Amino acid sequence: MAVPDQESVSPARASQLAANLASVRRRVDEACVAAGRSPADVALLPVTKFFPAADVLALIEAGATEFGESREPEAGRKAEDVRTATGRTDLRFHMIGQLQRNKAKSVARWADRVHSVDSLKLAQTLDRATGVALDNGDRAAALEVLIQVGLDDDEAKGRGGVAESDLAGLAESIAELPNLVLCGLMVIAPLHGSADRWMAESARIHRDFVAQYPEARELSAGMSGDLEIAVQHGSTCVRVGTAIMGDRPLISP
Ligand SMILES: *Cc1c(COP(=O)(O)O)cnc(C)c1O
Repeated sequence: MAVPDQESVSPARASQLAANLASVRRRVDEACVAAGRSPADVALLPVTKFFPAADVLALIEAGATEFGESREPEAGRKAEDVRTATGRTDLRFHMIGQLQRNKAKSVARWADRVHSVDSLKLAQTLDRATGVALDNGDRAAALEVLIQVGLDDDEAKGRGGVAESDLAGLAESIAELPNLVLCGLMVIAPLHGSADRWMAESARIHRDFVAQYPEARELSAGMSGDLEIAVQHGSTCVRVGTAIMGDRPLISP
């Protein structure tokens, strides 16, 4: 989706976004308290895919500094527009959606973190692209990555995600790549079945993983509909679109 001509949203939209952001943050905080966790341990990542740069600017006014995006070239353009408009260097953009290798080059220019690494080939391509972006001065730091774990034959169903049985091998290879920093895991709970069961499964996989990679503690899990359950099961980052932004326009991918 193109960035609209207008550079700022209406006051009504701005206050709606600020109110939604605060109310989702409250949901996260309450879920933390209920789970006996510190609210400081769970990040709220607003997901702004399909929404214009002006909405991102309004969220920044409301205090947000990190954003999740999932589609190219929309994401790269928006990140650049927002960085240019604000002149800020503390904003962070996360690629959370399934990523084709031919998009790695552009993603390596704007993304601080990729949540959706699910193959060695993709990791190697991102590593090389990040090296080029570093050499060209397009980025200043290594690329943080999470391995997306498929919970339900997701790979076979086209949703991405590595099978649990392949996780250890992939992590070992990624840890060797010079321009990537392995930070943890990402999961998407399948829509069918019990979210509680999927998140418990994620928590178990994450515990085993962290035992091997104590530095890679992130668990990106939970969205608008299941963030409380995800927090209960150890999520360190909930990715929330609809509950903050409203319904996404129905555009086929
Ligand atoms: C769009 C998206 C989200 C946000 O989903 P909501 O249900 O709108 O909160 C989270 N994670 C990923 C990977 C997404 O693509």
